[in-house]
Amino acid sequence: MRLTQYFLPTLKETPADAQIASHRLMLRAGMVTQVTSGIYSWLPLGLRVLQKIQQIVREEQDRAQSLEVLMPTIQPAELWHTSGRYEDYGKEMLRIKDRHDREMLYGPTAEEVITDIFARFIKSYKDLPKRFYNIQWKFRDEIRPRFGVMRGREFLMKDNYSFDLDMEGAKKSYQAMLDAYVKTFKRMGLTAIPVRAESGAIGGAMSHEFQILAETGESEIFYDPAYDELKDDEINLENLQRLYAASDEIHDEANCPVDPKTLKTARGIEVGHIFNFGTKYSIPFGALVSGPDGDQIPVQMGSYGIGISRLVGAIIEAFHDESGIKWPESVAPFKVGLINIRVSDSACTALCDDIYAQLLNAGVEVLYDDRDKGAGAKFADMDLIGLPWQMAVGPRGAAQGQVELKNRHTGEKIELQMADALKKVA
Ligand code: ATP
Ligand code: MG
Repeated sequence: MRLTQYFLPTLKETPADAQIASHRLMLRAGMVTQVTSGIYSWLPLGLRVLQKIQQIVREEQDRAQSLEVLMPTIQPAELWHTSGRYEDYGKEMLRIKDRHDREMLYGPTAEEVITDIFARFIKSYKDLPKRFYNIQWKFRDEIRPRFGVMRGREFLMKDNYSFDLDMEGAKKSYQAMLDAYVKTFKRMGLTAIPVRAESGAIGGAMSHEFQILAETGESEIFYDPAYDELKDDEINLENLQRLYAASDEIHDEANCPVDPKTLKTARGIEVGHIFNFGTKYSIPFGALVSGPDGDQIPVQMGSYGIGISRLVGAIIEAFHDESGIKWPESVAPFKVGLINIRVSDSACTALCDDIYAQLLNAGVEVLYDDRDKGAGAKFADMDLIGLPWQMAVGPRGAAQGQVELKNRHTGEKIELQMADALKKVA
């Protein structure tokens, strides 16, 4: 993409109302712009990141034997009367009336819609287990929208719903999602700690929040130092129920099994939440299947969310410096930023055009700064938007077919012949 043909409204000034780095950087990098409180438009650069995150989430959900569906944003109130949540949900639910005066709402989540689908179409235990997921915008009229897309009112969520015949099956579904989440966050360069999200008997809890450690996180978490030693394939229900990790909402100092001297505390950003709720929805919706003996059995359900739009902010919290964002390659909007230091120099521009064509040919995503602007401003913008590789070509280098390649993560810069630089980033 040529920057002269792109839309990248970067800001020099730090927006006054943005309190945390990711919010400031997303506004300054021209990724999003606020429409009204807690509601954002995603501009081209931000949308590319959102879509990359969404794709990683999708691939790992597919791998966990889940089927993608797309449920609507607008739901009828009746479904929520059936579950009994219409009144309970309170002011976070945006309630609407259509032209016929029927009560509707903008979905804050979709347990009701999916359970209704299940109840209408699936009748036999032979069709179990089933897992459905949905990547759709949700609306919650948060009392205090803040931190940009991290706590918005409209936000993109992946929600998965599992249906099993019995508790044994439900545990397998839960474990499948645990595994999928570990892989998902790892692919984004993140370490997310699953912390217990529900009190109750030790060993019994099947509700975990995935927290990314960050000083600006909204939750305080407390955990056993043994967590730091857990390998990916040791993140299982058994270990999670054996080791202590809890958010401030349920942390109980008096009954915490870990010595307060070693107990670790940190701040976290909740990027995912998984939980099992048994037959809470299957009974009122009549989501029953005929079992092996012909009797009607209400299915065991779980639901599993990931805050896709929140993750954009969370990743920036984890990867930035004073100059800007440092995207992990897997979610970077482009892999390479090509900087033409002097567009008025014909040799320089010829070499840049050539590099640009070769990168495109090789299928490398590249943003080409071909603007007629000072080098300082171009380097500053490139650091701000945080592409993993920067390739800069100036008149002096161009004369020798040389480029300067910078790694945005390490800051390391090297002079290379064009062919070697291309090889390095391809
Ligand atoms: P929180 O405690 O942060 O309000 P929640 O418990 O209400 O989260 P869930 O209902 O479990 O969240 O939703 C699943 C995921 O959706 C959360 O883990 C979070 O990543 C994301 N999420 C929830 N609320 C918001 C919001 N207002 N803005 C952006 N993402 C959100
Ligand atoms: Mg909430």
